[in-house]
Amino acid sequence: MSSAPTPQGREPEGLDINPIFAREGETAEIPRFTLPDRGLIPWTAYQLVHDEAMLDGNARLNLATFVTTWMDEKARELYAETVDKNMIDKDEYPKTAEIETRCWRILADLWHAPDPQKAIGTSTVGSSEAAMLAGLAMMRHWRNRRRAAGHDIDRPNLVMSSAVQVCWEKFCNYWDIEMRLVPVSADHPSLDGETVIPYVDERTIGVIAIMGVTYTGIYEPVAEICAALDSLQAESGLDVPVHVDGASGAFVAPFVHRSLPWDFRLPRVVSINASGHKYGLVYPGLGWVVWRDESRLPEDMIFRVSYLGGDMPTLALNFSRPGAQVLLQYYLFLRLGHAGYTAVQSATRDVAMHLAKHIGEMAPFELVSDGGDIPVFAWRLKEGYTENWTLYHLSDRLRGKGWLIPAYPLPEDLQDIVVQRIVVRNGFGYSLASDLLDDIDECVAWLDNLDGPIPTEHEGPGFTH
Ligand SMILES: *Cc1c(COP(=O)(O)O)cnc(C)c1O
Repeated sequence: MSSAPTPQGREPEGLDINPIFAREGETAEIPRFTLPDRGLIPWTAYQLVHDEAMLDGNARLNLATFVTTWMDEKARELYAETVDKNMIDKDEYPKTAEIETRCWRILADLWHAPDPQKAIGTSTVGSSEAAMLAGLAMMRHWRNRRRAAGHDIDRPNLVMSSAVQVCWEKFCNYWDIEMRLVPVSADHPSLDGETVIPYVDERTIGVIAIMGVTYTGIYEPVAEICAALDSLQAESGLDVPVHVDGASGAFVAPFVHRSLPWDFRLPRVVSINASGHKYGLVYPGLGWVVWRDESRLPEDMIFRVSYLGGDMPTLALNFSRPGAQVLLQYYLFLRLGHAGYTAVQSATRDVAMHLAKHIGEMAPFELVSDGGDIPVFAWRLKEGYTENWTLYHLSDRLRGKGWLIPAYPLPEDLQDIVVQRIVVRNGFGYSLASDLLDDIDECVAWLDNLDGPIPTEHEGPGFTH
């Protein structure tokens, strides 16, 4: 048997192979940062990667992420069968391309596109890419209209809440668009009809309304924002479109908040994005973007390439990307149907509200949101409750029990308020919730028993996910 040489310092230079797996004559030196000269047999390579990945957290106890960590066995079988499909290769994989179209048409219908024949959409790697495409379409649309009217096309702006997800900061940064952040406040915890208007002018390409704010899980009042912009148009002639960032909520609201108009039922909403890999229930990475009407997607954003054979239109930032996730989305649409999605999302929402209620009843806490919008909620320490500990300490204590429940400050202007957030996903049921509540009780009791403040250290940076 061969074995790796003993390292000189503390940090081994290479990876070591468990002697049980090491085969005679196999490379003993496996460098960490350079390509090994020779290969390994599949079993040994598998064991090395498998063992390293095992040190990642336990997805079940990760209540920080929105992204799907479990799919059923048939989904995994389908995934394994279709991992080799390249979404861009629409000529080689016409069925996958057709299924992609079926999926976004299903979404257009679910989001009440007034004329489904005129709607247009695409899959993406996630909501971030979807946001880039939707943002670019608004920018082009604005520019074309301004040019046609003989106006200047100086630096445009995009209006949104200061609680936006980082993808919109990226969009504005990458395409040099002025980001107009409307601050949140105790009176206006999200963007609303009142706060949005002063930020809008003739260079505004659009307003972003968020269905499921990352920090708290609350829905922004899309209908109210649209109504305010309707009045603005009546007074000033400014016609400002709204894009809905429904990364989470666009897969929740159609099933559990059916009478809430947040989508294409509002004529001002021109496009919507959603993450297939969040409450769409598919493994990462999959996103969707749908425009209510083809006229909202400038034709010059669509490319036609012939070098894969055929002449298929493409609309995407990346070229090659996996097609399997799209098939998984379709699998779930068929497997769950409307009733299935409603059952799954309602169950998740009920668990979120149950947890929120019980956490809200614990002496130290005050709820910031209750899990009734997307199944995500946040809480804060009651003012003056204790000088001895903070939610960062509670987060640390819970980490010791395996739970990942981040604490972080609210966005600008409310940054003095630290909250802790739980994202409830499919598969997190009442019994796990009860274990969690017991663990929180226990950690709080430990912290409350301290006879002085925990010495302060640098507190963690802002958290967005
Ligand atoms: C998660 C999220 C995004 C980014 O989505 P990805 O699919 O991870 O790229 C954008 N906006 C909101 C509101 C989100 O919650």
